[in-house]
Amino acid sequence: MFKIGAHMSTSRGFDKVPSDTVKIGGNTFQIFPHSPRMWRASLPTETQSESFKSEMVKHSLDFQSCMVHSGYLINLASPNEEVWEKSVELLSIEMKITASLGLKYLNFHPGSHLGEGVQYGIDKILRGIEIVLLENQDNEVELLLENVAAKGNHIGSRFSELATIIGKSVQPERIGITYDTCHGFDSGYDIRTSDGISRLIDEIDKSVGYGKLKMIHLNDSKYPLGAGKDRHEILGKGYIGSDEGFMEFVSNGRIREKPWLLETPGNDAEHSEEIKYIVELMNKSGGSFPS
Ligand code: ZN
Ligand code: MN
Ligand code: MN
Repeated sequence: MFKIGAHMSTSRGFDKVPSDTVKIGGNTFQIFPHSPRMWRASLPTETQSESFKSEMVKHSLDFQSCMVHSGYLINLASPNEEVWEKSVELLSIEMKITASLGLKYLNFHPGSHLGEGVQYGIDKILRGIEIVLLENQDNEVELLLENVAAKGNHIGSRFSELATIIGKSVQPERIGITYDTCHGFDSGYDIRTSDGISRLIDEIDKSVGYGKLKMIHLNDSKYPLGAGKDRHEILGKGYIGSDEGFMEFVSNGRIREKPWLLETPGNDAEHSEEIKYIVELMNKSGGSFPS
């Protein structure tokens, strides 16, 4: 079953997200669990989560294909103890929010070691994940590590780093990954050719295992291959999109198994156009979009 959607606003409440998703032609979505640039987060009330869940059912959306994206302040790799502790605490609350909405996946960026080194950063991330998972034994939410752009001291632009985190964690079965096409392109993964896509799938398979890939962030890039800038662009308008670069990607059967989420500039109206564009590309390549 083919899944596509976008990052959606929760400003009118969690329970408006399912109907807004259907309006833009989507059947999956991503949301923030709280204001993403703040440390403060609170659990939805019983009424709010029940209302959200009934809207999900009403619009026939699959709880396991939608995802929550962690706040931007979180850095589990931070050498600053205060930031690290606040990060662990907030990620734990975000996991509980995800559970209370009945959703399965919470995506986060592995973090930045701020100059202390990759090994240092990975150790801190592992300690953080251990606490967060211990505090969330009563739910079934899984954490997804997102590949980031190869930039500064960020951990997770390489699948080998993500594989190390998963492999050494206390509950590897509760950790998967999200592949962001803009971040990947920034890190040198060229998905404009079928060869490049095969190499990418192969590398995911040999590092974390293809089954660990749960979600795809479908973004174009404002900068050329390997630039490491992390600037998302509208699909088809950036460096991946030129010469119908996304056509190869969306027509790949293995890639189609995973839900696609847009994190591109613009809001619902623009995302709706991009979903149409992707469906056109799929149809041109011989695929079909079940309504
Ligand atoms: Zn992200
Ligand atoms: Mn992303
Ligand atoms: Mn990004």
